[in-house]
Amino acid sequence: MSVRVRFAPSPTGALHIGGVRTALYNYLFAKKSGGQFIIRIEDTDQARYVEGAEDYILSALEWCGIVPDEGPKSGGNYGPYRQSDRKALYKEYADRLIAEGKAYYAFDTPEELDEMRERLKEARMANPQYNAISRSQMKNSLTLSAEDVEQKLESGEPYVIRFKMPKNDDVRFKDVVRDWVVVNTTTLDDKVLMKSDGMPTYHLANIVDDHLMKITHVIRGEEWLPSAPLHVLLYQAFGWEAPQFAHLPLLLKPDGNGKLSKRAADQLGFPIFPLNWADPITGELSKGFKESGYLPEAFMNFLALLGWNPGTEQEMFTMDQLISEFTLERINKSGAKFDIEKAKWFNQQYLKNMSNSDLAQMLKAETGADASLDLLSAIAGSMKERVTFVSEILESGDFFFNAPTAYDEKTVNKKWTTEAVQKLTAFAKELSHQSRISPEEAKVKFMEVLSVDDTPIGRVMPALRLALTGAGGGPDLMEIISILGTEETNARINKAIEVLKTSN
Ligand code: GLU
Repeated sequence: MSVRVRFAPSPTGALHIGGVRTALYNYLFAKKSGGQFIIRIEDTDQARYVEGAEDYILSALEWCGIVPDEGPKSGGNYGPYRQSDRKALYKEYADRLIAEGKAYYAFDTPEELDEMRERLKEARMANPQYNAISRSQMKNSLTLSAEDVEQKLESGEPYVIRFKMPKNDDVRFKDVVRDWVVVNTTTLDDKVLMKSDGMPTYHLANIVDDHLMKITHVIRGEEWLPSAPLHVLLYQAFGWEAPQFAHLPLLLKPDGNGKLSKRAADQLGFPIFPLNWADPITGELSKGFKESGYLPEAFMNFLALLGWNPGTEQEMFTMDQLISEFTLERINKSGAKFDIEKAKWFNQQYLKNMSNSDLAQMLKAETGADASLDLLSAIAGSMKERVTFVSEILESGDFFFNAPTAYDEKTVNKKWTTEAVQKLTAFAKELSHQSRISPEEAKVKFMEVLSVDDTPIGRVMPALRLALTGAGGGPDLMEIISILGTEETNARINKAIEVLKTSN
């Protein structure tokens, strides 16, 4: 049987980084197995529906390079892929369970439900919920006569359909990550399957769709583990084979103390969503990983290792390599501590490995920099080893475009000496014979000037850097000279000599 997996987000807001990881693992597993990766939008809870969330989720996955084989945009043979568009088909399944005595109608009003909970709490019941015990005191098709039920349904009285949870039974299933899970049904309630608005709940729609879409593996976040026993019972009730389950470990705060929440991320100052998100309800703006300067390849590599390990020391993986290495068995059991420094490290590695011309294109597109691609490419080459984000290339490399207006005081005091100024003057003179110069040629000329009286390089180099960039440190100076050109280099040396006083 060919592997079919799904990522099934609810459009209740932006896609959290944990959701991106779930989608990624599903995608990797599908591709590794030569199977299909499906996106299904679970929007049956109209109260929690958020305008724009579905588009956001789909665009975010696209940016990540997680491309579905089937989904609301691309279609497929098992559509529609949005549950609100499948509304008509769920009722039949709920009716089937009713006909077989595995589910029932419940007519209790919200007030009656509140009263029940109060009553059970007062009686100190361990599980004050609508369940195998309390159902016998409620208004449902198990306690009412067939005529009463008929009459209520006909008169249009609001009702829900509830699952008839078996009493005191052990539900067992094998989870790929957690091995055997056993839960006694005494702790479980008679979950609503169909709501009074005619919409299925998540539980019913999820099981029916996974069955109809021939899903073989359900890979999802650990927060769904408590729902899994009900899902297993629903598969049994329908007489369907359940898919295999793999519940992924939580993403934890950097200190390992609790779940990584949006609040925690906000407090610590890092993104939690892949793309910028403007919350349509609160108006709050959240910056995404993309807009913070992360490359999608780096972001995916980082996320893949947050809860899965390849069993080796290797850290750098392209998407294709991840696909070939990924196995569900290597998903970690314990929660994964989120470390933004590691995300930055990956970004740095990917930036460093990019070609100068690709970086130049990116700089042009992102900043609209008024410079030729050749120039941007040279600047990218000189800066890429020293930055974490593409935007820093131009921010930290401002001196390529503008002569310094201030000079690092500490370096001035220590390194702007009479000797250095003499050497810089001589160097400038040497350069004035040429217009363009390569880094290698610049180096030869500089060494020539120093070799006249064997001046150690360390006594002149910092002054040269100061004159050209204003800073005490930075990328290779000879490359800077080559990029600036001899005329600009000389102008900057002369300006510095004019402005700065020598310390001795
Ligand atoms: N709609 C659920 C969610 O938002 C999907 C859970 C599942 O994968 O079964 O996470």
